[in-house]
Amino acid sequence: MKNSLIKIMFVLIIIALIRDDVANAASVNRLSGQDRYEVSVSISKSGWSQNSVEVILVNGYAIADALCAGPLAYDYKAPILLTTYNDIPKAVLDEIERLQPTRVTIVGGDASVPHKQISQIKERLPNVVIERISGKNRYEVSANIAQKVGGTEDVFLTSGTEFADALTVSSYASLNKIPIIITRSNFIPEEVSGTLNNYSKVKIVGGTASVSEEIEQILSSGKIVSRISGKDRYEVNTNFINNYYANPNKLFIAYGYAPADALSGAVVSAIQKVPLALTRKDRLPEELKSIIISNNIEQFTILGGEGSVQNNVQTLISNPVTGKVIVIDAGHGGLDNGASGNGIVEKELNLDIALRLKTKITNSLALIKMTRETDDYLQLIDRANIANCINQSAECKKADIFVSIHGNSYTSSTAKGTETYWSNDYESLKSNLLATSIQNRLYVSLGTVNRGVKEYDYSVLRNTTMPSALVELGFLSNPEDAAKLKNTYYRDKATNAIYTGIVDYFKK
Ligand SMILES: [Zn+2]
Repeated sequence: MKNSLIKIMFVLIIIALIRDDVANAASVNRLSGQDRYEVSVSISKSGWSQNSVEVILVNGYAIADALCAGPLAYDYKAPILLTTYNDIPKAVLDEIERLQPTRVTIVGGDASVPHKQISQIKERLPNVVIERISGKNRYEVSANIAQKVGGTEDVFLTSGTEFADALTVSSYASLNKIPIIITRSNFIPEEVSGTLNNYSKVKIVGGTASVSEEIEQILSSGKIVSRISGKDRYEVNTNFINNYYANPNKLFIAYGYAPADALSGAVVSAIQKVPLALTRKDRLPEELKSIIISNNIEQFTILGGEGSVQNNVQTLISNPVTGKVIVIDAGHGGLDNGASGNGIVEKELNLDIALRLKTKITNSLALIKMTRETDDYLQLIDRANIANCINQSAECKKADIFVSIHGNSYTSSTAKGTETYWSNDYESLKSNLLATSIQNRLYVSLGTVNRGVKEYDYSVLRNTTMPSALVELGFLSNPEDAAKLKNTYYRDKATNAIYTGIVDYFKK
């Protein structure tokens, strides 16, 4: 009794000690607000905790005017705040006052931000300088902003009516001081053609429905023209990210139809050198999921309230396994049957549970690698090496965890229960925690005897350099355990338990 109490204390202390140290679970924050104006204030507060010398103000419902303001805002190190046509919302006015700028630049003409708003600002900040960048239409505004941003080489060209593409480029364009010019889909408006001529490399972003083939051809005589397109705004966005960002480790995420949120957020994402990703309201586009999984992205900032990016998207990316690499090893296989008893062959049981786990984890945003998915024979060292070098390149990247699935057996049929092993060789504290997390879920959910967590240097544990654990689901030689392990209901329970144990492990 006393002994087991000490053991429990010891495990608790170890868990407490390494909690902080466990590979950081996904970090997600949301910059939100009641409406687009408040969202712009939240974004401003997150990026400018102190004063800002410059502030940019645009009409939240005339985003077309301000579509190209990102690079200018970044150049000015200025937050982009939104206003209505009638009045500057109080929250926005308060924010301007808090920032104590020496200059406020209004983007858009009198028709989008009326003159009286200048006096509203001056009431709060009498000495502030007000500038206005306008034009007779959105195209001219974009050309005028481009002239302020400057440059002679690169320019982005996107649709002036499909806002998503301009927002897709906004963060990158800002960071790299590349102006964004907008165009009509079938011809280049005269308001921008002169300015466009200043640049030698035109990067079209969007499909041919947004910026036509003809435009591309016309520009090609005399300029270097490239295009990134896609079947919809989401694919354009992910193709852009794949093209322009090598191994991003964080994403800003905005709803693909909430240009106001994305516009305000683009400057902050540029400052953090992070891509701006567009999502559907209720689910992540598949291409975006691939980017998260393949780059092991664990940090996210959601732009906008639940009306634009729903909570289930936040829940999915907040899962502690997001961005992790998990290797599942189905023990034995091929000519090696492992144990057998009561009508169960161990290699088949192990593979079945491993494949169920794969399906389970595939629905999350973790990258899952299997040592085997069929009845193959693999050397033990090859199993470990898959986890030690998941990319199989010279600069090996290792998995975050390795979990090996097994069934037990003994000469006497009375031996029964569930146990999980870890080894002392690498990452022993974390391996112990991983084994403990899985074991604690597994025996409870199977209703088997808890044989506990044990240290043993099995080859796959000894040779894997990341935290690893080996699960013994139950005894095939014991009729009660075997009856459960034969049953698909219990197999699903075991799968869920192992998965939940893994989630517990990654949770902070
Ligand atoms: Zn085995």
